[in-house]
Amino acid sequence: MQRKPKKLTQGPFDLLVIGGGITGAWTAYDAARRGLKVALVDKGDWGSGTSQSSSKMIHGGLRYLENYEFGLVRHSLGERRLLSRIGPHRVFPVRFAMPSYKTDAVPRWQFKAGLMLYDWLAGSGQPVAKHESLSRKRFAERYPYITDDGLRGGFTYGDCQEDDARFTLEVVAGAQRMGATVINHAPAEELRRAGQRVVGAVVRDRFSGELVDVSAKVTVNAAGPWAEELVPGERANRITRLVKGVHLLMPPLPGPDGLFITNPEDGRVVFMIPWYGRTILGTTDSDYQGNADDLVVTDDEQAYLLRIADRALGHGFWSASDVLGRYSGVRTLRNETEENASKLSREWELDEPLENLLMPIGGKYTSARADAAKIVERVFQRLKQADPGCTTGRRPMPWAPLGDFDAWRKRQCDRGLALGLDAECADWAALRFGVKIRHYHRLLGKRPELATRITPELPFTRAEVLHAVNYEMAQTAQDVLRRRIPLMLFSQQSAAITESCVQLLEQEFDWRDERLELHWQ
Ligand SMILES: Cc1cc2nc3c(=O)[nH]c(=O)nc-3n(C[C@H](O)[C@H](O)[C@H](O)COP(=O)(O)OP(=O)(O)OC[C@H]3O[C@@H](n4cnc5c(N)ncnc54)[C@H](O)[C@@H]3O)c2cc1C
Repeated sequence: MQRKPKKLTQGPFDLLVIGGGITGAWTAYDAARRGLKVALVDKGDWGSGTSQSSSKMIHGGLRYLENYEFGLVRHSLGERRLLSRIGPHRVFPVRFAMPSYKTDAVPRWQFKAGLMLYDWLAGSGQPVAKHESLSRKRFAERYPYITDDGLRGGFTYGDCQEDDARFTLEVVAGAQRMGATVINHAPAEELRRAGQRVVGAVVRDRFSGELVDVSAKVTVNAAGPWAEELVPGERANRITRLVKGVHLLMPPLPGPDGLFITNPEDGRVVFMIPWYGRTILGTTDSDYQGNADDLVVTDDEQAYLLRIADRALGHGFWSASDVLGRYSGVRTLRNETEENASKLSREWELDEPLENLLMPIGGKYTSARADAAKIVERVFQRLKQADPGCTTGRRPMPWAPLGDFDAWRKRQCDRGLALGLDAECADWAALRFGVKIRHYHRLLGKRPELATRITPELPFTRAEVLHAVNYEMAQTAQDVLRRRIPLMLFSQQSAAITESCVQLLEQEFDWRDERLELHWQ
């Protein structure tokens, strides 16, 4: 797919969005849908900040009930229902087991009350069934691999999950489809000012080094953890606080369900979430003072999560040598006096640090669509134009199939099988590509030798490597192997897996040097 940074000179844009994480992506898509002339840039790739490092859940946030954030939970549960309806290929249910032990600080009745409240706040029409209470015996029978020492019984409940980097990509592609100019690998170096007013930004094209003056009537600084760098010296105190979270990629759990555990050491909640046939274990929550570009996962953080898994699944179930990969990200939250990072509010706010510069703070992946709708509403106010209103919640997601989803999914699987894919790869492809699967299938028709898996354990094919560059705006090996295909997350211990893909990229696209470099956390 051709990348055209020169188009950024074709201003003035009504709106320039800096940062193509999920917040910037929904903002650009929504604004373009409402008829505005929009530009969206990201200093790296779409979703390469926090939006590739989440727990990958579309959820109300059961643990936020503990902080009495009922409004936030209800709102997020509403978005869970809406997103799974407009994007059934992107957002799908996952069930969690929740054991209750004699040693828990929270009594069993309190877990039960929390789950009843969660179901009640969710209302009707949700994609997941309500919670279920299980006796000690039934819980131990259904989840024999979960420690039963001191078990009092347990529960199951439902939430939804997704592939966060692909979610962001799809929304950016939707913005582009609606006419927005979208350029990745294009950092905004500084804001352009006319007196006190912000009138766009100077953007650098990473590959040519050229600087482009992007002229815009309103600018949204959706740069997440980097947002304050763009407004240096404007505020005496930092308005945001960065909170780091780490996840590990582990082998599959024995059953299909995930696990919700309360860590008795500190009372924090940690999840085990099934993902592409493996398990995401996380997260930690700790204040972060450094630059978000320098994030690494420390051995202490890994040991903390493995200790929790040890207690939940029994000693020796997993060890450090089972860690397939690890990643970290930072949340940008409103700076509050609260000391405990887990207790900081996830509520979303829209700040306006300079004239015609809007800056969202906080929030969640789950609620980013609705937050973006409020941003675009404010953009129309600043433009003093009549606002036609948000339609993103009423339209299918950009790559969502129309009509009966299950029937569509089955057709795509059959087609994939006929083109040489195995059943698992064929099914994942339908979910990963949505209606864009037709390009993928066409590629398989022309290059059947690429229908083979990159590595036998994971449901990703060599054809997907090419598809990422041809149809999904990938510009570097990291874009392809971390975000279009989350291969780097599963293969930290086996460089040969990614190496074969890097060679393919080199051969097919003549990529060299910095385009081929991989950065591991
Ligand atoms: C550990 C963790 C787990 C989470 N789990 C969940 C979850 O399961 N469910 C949920 O709903 N929410 C979750 N969240 C929250 C969610 O991930 C975030 O709310 C969301 O990803 C924030 O997106 P964003 O677009 O605001 O920021 P980011 O995704 O960080 O996007 C900012 C973008 O701006 C770009 N940028 C920065 N500077 C510039 C510049 N100068 N020029 C151009 N571009 C620039 C960056 O490259 C980046 O892509 C989690 C967060 C964390 C940290």
